Amino acid sequence: MNETHGEVVKVSGPLVVARGLTGARMYEMVRVGEARLFGEIIEIRGDDYSIQVYEETEGIGPGQSVWRTGEALSVELGPGLIRSIYDGVQRPLDALARDFGDFIVRGAERPALDRSVEWTFTPVAKVGDKVQPGDVLGTIQESKLVEHRILVPPNRSGIIKKIAPVKGNVDTEIAVLETASGLVSLTMVQRWPVRLPRPVKRKFPPTECLVTGQRVIDMFFPITKGGTACVPGPFGSGKTVVQHQLAKWADAQIIVYVGCGERGNEMTDVLMEFPHLKDPSSGEPLMERTVLVANTSNMPVAAREASVFTGIAIAEYFRDMGYSVALMADSTSRWAEAMREISGRLEEMPGEEGYPAYLGSRIASFYERAGNVQCLGSDDRRGSLSLIGAVSPPGGDLSEPVVQATLRVVKVFWGLDDKLAFARHFPAISWLNSYSLYQTVVDEEENSKIGPTWSAKRKQAMAILQREAELEELVRLVGIDALAADDRLLLQAAKMVREDFLHQNAFDERDTYTSLKKQFRLLAVILHYYAEAKSALANGASLTDLITLPVLEEISRAKLIPEDELSKFDELEKRISESVKALVQV
Ligand code: ADP
Repeated sequence: MNETHGEVVKVSGPLVVARGLTGARMYEMVRVGEARLFGEIIEIRGDDYSIQVYEETEGIGPGQSVWRTGEALSVELGPGLIRSIYDGVQRPLDALARDFGDFIVRGAERPALDRSVEWTFTPVAKVGDKVQPGDVLGTIQESKLVEHRILVPPNRSGIIKKIAPVKGNVDTEIAVLETASGLVSLTMVQRWPVRLPRPVKRKFPPTECLVTGQRVIDMFFPITKGGTACVPGPFGSGKTVVQHQLAKWADAQIIVYVGCGERGNEMTDVLMEFPHLKDPSSGEPLMERTVLVANTSNMPVAAREASVFTGIAIAEYFRDMGYSVALMADSTSRWAEAMREISGRLEEMPGEEGYPAYLGSRIASFYERAGNVQCLGSDDRRGSLSLIGAVSPPGGDLSEPVVQATLRVVKVFWGLDDKLAFARHFPAISWLNSYSLYQTVVDEEENSKIGPTWSAKRKQAMAILQREAELEELVRLVGIDALAADDRLLLQAAKMVREDFLHQNAFDERDTYTSLKKQFRLLAVILHYYAEAKSALANGASLTDLITLPVLEEISRAKLIPEDELSKFDELEKRISESVKALVQV
């Protein structure tokens, strides 16, 4: 720790003003008071240094010392991240709980990466290799599901003088590099300032769907690997379930889940539930490919502000290894509120609804770190980082500043509708308000991978739902009996798209995940019925007979057809054709 130290002159909640920190820079970490609380310099005015403190400031008062650390708020990156549960400034919650009890002792410090764990490093590079930032030095089997790649740090390059298989903790030397400024010893761990995006060679436009197994998402409002999405919705509309479903099912290799608890106990739910979730494709615990960053209720708001950046720096580190990473943040509204509180205490000029004027740019600086990238290094390694943020606007009001600022930067909007949630239509993602700007990209991919009519089927189903909304208006005015038979048949088809396709029970073993192939077949079956029924109606079949056919019951159960029995859809289509045609012959 740097010996220069200053003195507290004022305390206002989580904000402390100090003087005498000569030479300290914006975003430098400091330790405050006898308790040595964590803080970060967030404003410098003359000799007044405003410090955002990540712990309760009780007991801190004028005259107490403030020490510089000389380092920006940084994360420790290396093996041991996977399976960890961190607080907003990367303190390991489990180790703290073990050593200090459930309530974190202020100023408590434990290394983010456990030094008592030994790792086996297997080199990939050899002595004499000329390496540049991002080159793979070797690998470590970090968990059952993750091979950790140790990369040359972004600011290093040179010739390898020494490298060998080793076993030891993260501080063990794994290689020696001869650089322009002399020999440099490399260990398994690096540090990175969280507010600075980690460098990449270049970014590509997204090209590939991030398959989530959630039908309303994949088929109607898809997200890509490297894409951005937001899920705004009122309390109880299913934001958390959507985020959990994505954490479980999205085909990303690494999951980083940042929880800024809505209520105190909500984060505890995540902490209790995640360690028990199973990764569906491998059967291993989901934690084998997950890092959790959690703000528990006893932590002050300022730590939430940091947690989002802590999470994203960890996510970028795994992306740089060439993995597809998905980060979920729940909820970014709590993060924005932390910004508002700190800004208020700094007496900054408030913008809309008291949020700081930089709310929009801060939110953008988070989502801009998503992407599909070519990683640093001499191989052609690609990685991706997808970002999904939940927003919980007060009263579900989508015109409020956090939702609006988020919508300006994200490409997918899954709008949760409390009327749908109330009617227990889950996921309560509104098909009328939501959108995805990746639809064209994903259509192109799935038209060639899954079936040439993928996009046509979606468009048809969407048109049916939009027409249903118009007809509902009409029905309210004139009653259902005034509708023509073909419109009533359309209402039947719309009901089937909603209930038999879009509705998906997260808690049903079979329904919780649907492959793209099955999603396509399921929608096709519904549209097949509609096409057959329309032509039968034109040829004299009765509407009542058509909408009470027993085969409709079978269609409603088709979502439970097992993934390895998709030929059952062929049989079902045949039965639909036969039973509808039989109505015309009568
Ligand atoms: P929020 O985070 O928006 O407050 P939750 O995600 O906790 O809301 O969802 C509230 C409740 O809605 C859940 O406890 C669950 O009963 C129900 N629910 C949400 N999504 C689904 C789903 N896909 N399938 C079944 N039930 C759901």
